[in-house]
Amino acid sequence: MTLDTNKTIGIIGGGQLARMLSFAAFQFGYRIAIFEPEKNCPASQVTDQHFCASYKDEKALEEFAKSCDIVTFEFENIPVDAVKTIEKHVKIYPNPDALGHTQDRLSEKEFVRSLGLPCAPFYEINSLDDLEAAIKTNGLPAILKTRRFGYDGKGQFVIKNADEAAQAWNELGQNPCVLEGFVDFSFETSMILTRGQDGEILYFPNSQNIHKDGILRKSMVPSPLNFDQIEECKHIGRTIAEALKYVGTLTVEIFVGKHGLVVNEIAPRVHNSGHWTIEGCKTSQFEAHIRAICGLPLGSSSLMARGVEMENLLGDEILHAFKLAADGNVFVHIYGKKDIKPGRKMGHFTRLFG
Ligand code: AMP
Repeated sequence: MTLDTNKTIGIIGGGQLARMLSFAAFQFGYRIAIFEPEKNCPASQVTDQHFCASYKDEKALEEFAKSCDIVTFEFENIPVDAVKTIEKHVKIYPNPDALGHTQDRLSEKEFVRSLGLPCAPFYEINSLDDLEAAIKTNGLPAILKTRRFGYDGKGQFVIKNADEAAQAWNELGQNPCVLEGFVDFSFETSMILTRGQDGEILYFPNSQNIHKDGILRKSMVPSPLNFDQIEECKHIGRTIAEALKYVGTLTVEIFVGKHGLVVNEIAPRVHNSGHWTIEGCKTSQFEAHIRAICGLPLGSSSLMARGVEMENLLGDEILHAFKLAADGNVFVHIYGKKDIKPGRKMGHFTRLFG
């Protein structure tokens, strides 16, 4: 079904991803309403309807849902009850089942394994005893991760010696965790794809991602992947998207190592490692998402340059953003966040080469 222009797309969440989705939606004459508890968030500055309320506020959720023709989301940790309330009134894309598989790292790993896709060995950890037993089975190093609410490397502890087990368990708050075998990878790539309502898939070129202190610094295209590896990435992305009956943009983070590809994480949304597509591709990941959920043709992910690089502007790096704009091959994006905090994603810039 095609959504007519002038109709309203609801976005759950009001951060920079919602802001960039809004810009893409406006291009087609859609209106945007966001639901976001925080005032003056990056997306509220560019949208006319901001439902500013708690995710527990059923009345506000209902009002939001009733004012939208379709709803999408910019993050995966939306409380399940909020999704259920919204779903009673309006169709949500992508299928909210995707949230169930990605809010919890254990369910996510089990899902990936059930599809026959490669992932690191993992163990469910509910106690220090579980952790010690898993370390014995797996060996070290290994990485302990909280099952829920981890992002940008938060909620993780790399265990190198068995005597660090108690420290890791305590530092992660004795919360339910997964222990993952440590993957010796050469680099990380993102497989970003957009699946339409008719099942057609648009694959974006793979990026090579560089992290520092658990936070994405840079994404570069083209990646060093060879043809077979790219085909395998597409297979991984397609298998996940089809299993979820997914509509919209989906991201799979994949480790590339000596022993092949390993799925690290699934994000049921547009992704920081795909910001380069705004200027780097004919159709960006944001535009493709809007096209998919609105039933429009998906567009083209052809490159606009021979090489593209995106770098995040973290914390006070944003203070130099205007200087970067002096280079005509550089495209600066500032998210409009008032408070500068170390490591906070304040903006990014993309450089086109050749
Ligand atoms: P995540 O939050 O799971 O994306 O992890 C953040 C970063 O931690 C990744 O980009 C990797 O650099 C590192 N990491 C996560 N899991 C593993 C693993 N199983 N083996 C090695 N490094 C990992």
